[in-house]
Amino acid sequence: PDEADIEALQHADVAALLPVPGAESDKYRRGVVGIAAGSARYPGAAVLAVAGALRGGAGAVRYVGPAGDAVIARFPETLVSDGSPERAGRVQAWVVGPGAGDDADSVAAVLKSDVPVLVDADGLRLADRDVVRARTAPTLLTPHAGEAAALLGVSRNEVEGARLTSVRELAAAYGATVLLKGSTTLVAEPGGGAVRVNSTGTAWLATAGSGDVLSGLTGSLLAAGLGTRDAGSVGAYLHGLAGRFAADGAPVGAYDVADAVREAWRDVMEG
Ligand code: AMP
Ligand code: MG
Repeated sequence: PDEADIEALQHADVAALLPVPGAESDKYRRGVVGIAAGSARYPGAAVLAVAGALRGGAGAVRYVGPAGDAVIARFPETLVSDGSPERAGRVQAWVVGPGAGDDADSVAAVLKSDVPVLVDADGLRLADRDVVRARTAPTLLTPHAGEAAALLGVSRNEVEGARLTSVRELAAAYGATVLLKGSTTLVAEPGGGAVRVNSTGTAWLATAGSGDVLSGLTGSLLAAGLGTRDAGSVGAYLHGLAGRFAADGAPVGAYDVADAVREAWRDVMEG
């Protein structure tokens, strides 16, 4: 890749972007994030996305979907409802898609909102491209290479062999910020410009549910007011670092990664 076209955040950049509450903060100002995820078949994806959102500093997390009991059992602080996202109450950003199965209605409802939306996993397949393009509030898509390939109509190998081009093409096609996951993570804007690259991660992050944690974590940053490009690159940075701390040279589960976000956060703030 052309070096001039990529940039990487450092600890100090991330520290300056992390939303730290001040004396005047309250939970609404810190940001309420809505999570529309999980299904009867994949309730755990909802729990992991909520875990990521809580560790990402949200003032409150609203969960909408069929996995409310599983979410509450692990995180009693979650505000749970089971109707449509449109009736969930005010949120400052939505995360939709992890473990969502075929719940196209939730994806469509969330895309109608006038707040930032992060679309991941099953949500990527269910999101209508023209609807995403027509949104006025920011949208952040977070595919891995296989999901990006499906959206672009090419093979996974083609994406893996041309990751920088692929992430730019996808951002242009959807008129949205795109975060392409993998051993390094790339964040591209629809209007072009430098692509942010993140390499804080570890191969131990290649484990089921790891991406669901990233979605929730990044959603919190959107709810706190970061733009899609900053939220995506800061989310990937913290998630990668959390993966390193949680793994520490041995296998980890996705839940451990969510827990270690606190350690990553402290490490960033301490310089
Ligand atoms: P998902 O595929 O949605 O579960 O997301 C997997 C998460 O783990 C993403 O944040 C990836 O960037 C990260 N990840 C997967 N494989 C690796 C790897 N080999 N090295 C570093 N991070 C990885
Ligand atoms: Mg995933």
